[in-house]
Amino acid sequence: MRDVPEIFGSLVFNDDVMSARLPREIYKSLHKTIEEGTALDITVANAVAAAMKDWAIEKGATHYTHWFQPLTGITAEKHDSFLTPQPDGRVIMEFSGKELIKGEPDASSFPSGGLRETFEARGYTAWDPTSYAFIKDDSLCIPTIFCSFGGEVLDKKTPLIRSMEEINAKAVRLLRIMGDEQVTRVNTTVGPEQEYFLVDKETYKKRRDLVLTGRTLFGAKPPKGQELDDHYFGVIKPRVMAFMQELNVELWKLGVYAKTEHNEAAPAQHELAPVFATANIAADHNQLTMEIMKKVADRHGLACLLHEKPFQGVSGSGKHNNWSLSTNYGKNLFKPGKKPQDNKTFLVCLCAVIEAVDKYQDLLRITAASAGNDHRLGASEAPPAIISMFLGDELTEILEAIERGEHGENKKAETVLTGVEVLPDVKKDTTDRNRTSPLAFTGNKFEFRMLGSTFSIADVNIVLNTAVADAFERLADRLEGAKDIEAELDKWMSETITAHKRIIYNGNNYTQEWIDEAHRRGLFDLKSTADAVPHFVSEKNVGLFTKHKIFTKSEIVSRCEIMLENYCKVLHIEALTMLEMARKDILPAVVSYTNEAAKSVKLKKDIGISLENDAALDLCGKLSALTNSLYEKTNALEAAIDGENKATGSLEASAYYRDELVPAMNALRAVADELETMVAEKHWPYPTYSELLFNI
Ligand code: ADP
Ligand code: MG
Repeated sequence: MRDVPEIFGSLVFNDDVMSARLPREIYKSLHKTIEEGTALDITVANAVAAAMKDWAIEKGATHYTHWFQPLTGITAEKHDSFLTPQPDGRVIMEFSGKELIKGEPDASSFPSGGLRETFEARGYTAWDPTSYAFIKDDSLCIPTIFCSFGGEVLDKKTPLIRSMEEINAKAVRLLRIMGDEQVTRVNTTVGPEQEYFLVDKETYKKRRDLVLTGRTLFGAKPPKGQELDDHYFGVIKPRVMAFMQELNVELWKLGVYAKTEHNEAAPAQHELAPVFATANIAADHNQLTMEIMKKVADRHGLACLLHEKPFQGVSGSGKHNNWSLSTNYGKNLFKPGKKPQDNKTFLVCLCAVIEAVDKYQDLLRITAASAGNDHRLGASEAPPAIISMFLGDELTEILEAIERGEHGENKKAETVLTGVEVLPDVKKDTTDRNRTSPLAFTGNKFEFRMLGSTFSIADVNIVLNTAVADAFERLADRLEGAKDIEAELDKWMSETITAHKRIIYNGNNYTQEWIDEAHRRGLFDLKSTADAVPHFVSEKNVGLFTKHKIFTKSEIVSRCEIMLENYCKVLHIEALTMLEMARKDILPAVVSYTNEAAKSVKLKKDIGISLENDAALDLCGKLSALTNSLYEKTNALEAAIDGENKATGSLEASAYYRDELVPAMNALRAVADELETMVAEKHWPYPTYSELLFNI
């Protein structure tokens, strides 16, 4: 391995580069902008742009682009070259402060959910100096936010940054009232773990469904799945290892702290976890990670599948969003310490999260809603669609004591006895791990496990930040009028626990028992995207976002619209793809295999061989019955697709897709998958699950 510290961040215009290349005064005033949000002076912008350009050209860049995150959920870029023609026919390489600060991409082809008519195509991108510029594909990429001509926000990053500022302001105010004199800033820290599949590229290309929709729309379960648990944390295969090594190097160059890599539960499934960073950097880095994963895979003859459910009956891929808060002096607000009972800051922050999660369950659910993730949530490898929190027994006991107005005993940290003399005894964590909870407290952070692997992490962090900021604010208001702060805090915690403890569940979330219990507790159970997304615009939720100036009402309505539209579009494309596959490939294959069997029957009959208990005859009968059923289900799906136009508006349309299209797709798939188990391999038109999952 080459020198990691040397390559790390080598393609990033980071603080080191800035301090080395910018004049002292310029560097200082840029820092002021980054840290305090002061307006940027054009002379500063010009100087920064010039230094960036020189640096980028030295690194081989010829173009620059504003890099932003529109509501498609992925990133967008439009490249311009530095080339500026001169009157004498020569060219020079130029890049001005104006070009750095502001871009005007034609915004008409990005989703706006009705916020912007196509004739008002103008959109603006504006430099986000808090995320470093970097070089990718010989272009200088400048992280920007994206808004419309009228100032409506059209991206995921602006509200994320707003929510980070909001929780910062409210947390600092609360901590100060609670007596923290050191605190000047509270940062949202996030570490997203990314799951993905790697399959052979040539095999992948033979699957129309994978290529067009990112997931298999047909496919019988292979004889071997993940039941042996021999893949999870198993030895990484050489071809995958080579991919991971190159991926790491590419990410390190871009300043992404790729750290942990291992095999996941399903065959051909893997995970990458970076070291956590501030939320907006983590969001940028996760987008880059997904993009680079695909590119590097391609160079290794592999296809990287980021879809949340590429294979039915095999674990899907999620993205775990680890979220925490830390102060300017490095204190993690969710670190319980050795004596959690005495750690008021921790307990108060924990109670605020409990309140926030209970009140805004529906919003958290929406951040994980998509057609793709609907296949995952509620299946046996992912949390159910019901939001709850896991705290573990010890913390739950502490909270119960607080609710009763008592101050519980601090337990001595237990050690796990390994029982082997030469091995050290391991200190036990305050909480065990729970892999079934949607939101688990994992020692010093909360792990939101519901996101699908393709998701941007922006939305869930916007909701967590805003909802917790709201709880902080109301508590701070209450404390300001209080005579005895300590007593008031205890009272507030006790009340909060009573009001919101229904959201805490430490058991196994995968069981029916929990679903029944959750219903008794009155928790939201929003099963599909079509059920969840409409809650976005409820009065309570609009109230939260508008109060904290994260979204305007029309921005919320438009986001809701985009999510529903996207749900419908994805299902529409999948249904059409299924239709095409069934008609063009599967039906012909089944018919020709049936013919082969029928020919054998006829031949035997002609030469007088008994057809009693004849296998070919039996097969013929079964195949033709299933073929008829396949034909019927194909026509039914077509009819369901034709019925789409009757729905008016996205709300009605999404309900139609959920109730009519999805069942028609499932019915067609069931017959086709059964046929796959009966048809000879040389007749089946697609590589099977075994070939996809076990041939690397
Ligand atoms: P696991 O798979 O056991 O949940 P990993 O080590 O794979 O754990 O991932 C844990 C993730 O949580 C990493 O990305 C890590 O950087 C992140 N993390 C750790 N501490 C914090 C924190 N204080 N705030 C946010 N994320 C954190
Ligand atoms: Mg995890």
